[in-house]
Amino acid sequence: MILDPLSLFQASLEGNDSGTAILMIDSQTKSYEILLQNSIYTELAKEFDSRFFLKNKIKTNDFNTEIIYKVDGKILETSFGHFDYTKGIPGKQYTKFFVKDITIKQKQEEEIAWRLRFELGVASSIQILIQKPSIRESLPQALYQLLYFTEMDSIFFLKHMETTETDIENFEIWVNERKSTDFPLLPTKFQNLNWNREGINRWIHKLKNGKLIYLQKEKALPKEKWYFEESKVETLLWIPVHFENQFLGIMGFQKHTPNFVIHHENLLIFQTVSRWMGLFVQRDKDLTELNRYKSSLESLVLERTLDLSRTKEELERAYKAKTEFLAHVSHELRTPLNSIIGFSKLIQLPEADETGKEYLNYIYSGGTRLLKMINEILHLMKIESGQIELKIAEFKPEEICRQALELIKPQADAKRMEIRFYPPIQSKSLVSDSGKIQQILLNLLSNAIKYANHSFVEFHCEWNDSNLLFKVKDFGPGIPKEDQNRIFHSFTRLYDDGQIEGTGLGLSISQGLAEKLGGKIELTSLVGEGSTFTLIIPENRK
Ligand code: ADP
Repeated sequence: MILDPLSLFQASLEGNDSGTAILMIDSQTKSYEILLQNSIYTELAKEFDSRFFLKNKIKTNDFNTEIIYKVDGKILETSFGHFDYTKGIPGKQYTKFFVKDITIKQKQEEEIAWRLRFELGVASSIQILIQKPSIRESLPQALYQLLYFTEMDSIFFLKHMETTETDIENFEIWVNERKSTDFPLLPTKFQNLNWNREGINRWIHKLKNGKLIYLQKEKALPKEKWYFEESKVETLLWIPVHFENQFLGIMGFQKHTPNFVIHHENLLIFQTVSRWMGLFVQRDKDLTELNRYKSSLESLVLERTLDLSRTKEELERAYKAKTEFLAHVSHELRTPLNSIIGFSKLIQLPEADETGKEYLNYIYSGGTRLLKMINEILHLMKIESGQIELKIAEFKPEEICRQALELIKPQADAKRMEIRFYPPIQSKSLVSDSGKIQQILLNLLSNAIKYANHSFVEFHCEWNDSNLLFKVKDFGPGIPKEDQNRIFHSFTRLYDDGQIEGTGLGLSISQGLAEKLGGKIELTSLVGEGSTFTLIIPENRK
């Protein structure tokens, strides 16, 4: 049996998942005939004016795919597929015509596109929040950006404020934006609202407990309806903003056109945004707090600094007054003292007047001691007030050491003490003030002779890199640890029993001079073993 090709077609058409018809077209007359059609086609052809549609297409020779958007929301996709039919009538064209209901597919695609848009909006608004330091500045912009990318029509953010009133909730409206001026903004009465009296206390209760409100106008309680009417809202989505169980505010999204549904996935994204918001609001709160601390700390520091500088000025004034007083008194004392010493030398007493001579000697030695002390005080004051002048020159340190030894010799001889000198091995020169160094060395050597009862004192002069060290080492009583710093302060004497002459000024003058030369004096000492005073002087005092 030979099968009719059209009946074969018919069988294959029924297997199609879209409406399909086989058309025979007369290209001359621009007319067509439906040879075959499957049952889906029969159904879908009723959905639109298929005859008129096909006639038009054939007339204009337009066989492109076309999408028909119907008023009831249905979307149909039409397309053509020409084929050669050898068994057909010559001169006629054969084509398949497909009609497909793509409403669901299209909706899904739109859905995905919206989702992508939404996510983009979320990302860009969060970026704005991250970049700007102050949330009060960035929030309106960030939330408007978010609104723009969602299907919602208006957005607000109510920042919760602490209040002592029990039935009033205190909020600040931080954001109140809408896509079109047709939609009213959130009424300002929400700043201080008695939610109970307004019939919407279950809303605030839910929100404060961390639950969101997703409510359509028709599902609202009768006492809640006023809000939808006053705000022309059809659907609302209010989400609480929390941070670590602390209620920070409400983020509200609203739709002003009817029949709108927010899908579950989108609800989750809105909730994620509110979590982010919690983070940013908290960050802002912390920063404000921190800034408050910072500025109060700054003013405290400023106050203290002022106090300190006032105290410093007072001290400086007092110190200057003391210095001036001492300088004045010392000068006034020096003149009569010089006369006393001078005259005590000139007075000629008879040979036999032993007592008179003894008294005269007291006057002379006491006067000289007093004059020495006054001179030392003046000298110390000069160092402290920076009036000392340095005479910097190049010299061989060994020469200075030998001169000092020469000068101290009588004192050492008087005590029958030997000074063992160890000159530097290198013959390097020193650039410094030789006179001042010698003054320091004499003081150190004289102390070693005065305070150490031993047959000899060692005097070393040696280079240590770019420093020259002068070491005066004695084997006397030594200095207890707790006194080692103290003896460098003026008028400090350790064993002042009147046996050993001194003013307690020598070491403080020496240390002051050493510092002027860019160096210092260091002390190492052990009680019962002796002391080593080391004068350290840099090779070149620039
Ligand atoms: P002065 O020798 O005029 O008392 P100094 O300032 O030179 O003043 O010394 C301060 C004190 O340090 C001395 O009174 C003495 O008690 C102690 N002192 C200084 N050098 C030595 C030393 N080589 N050994 C022990 N004590 C010392």
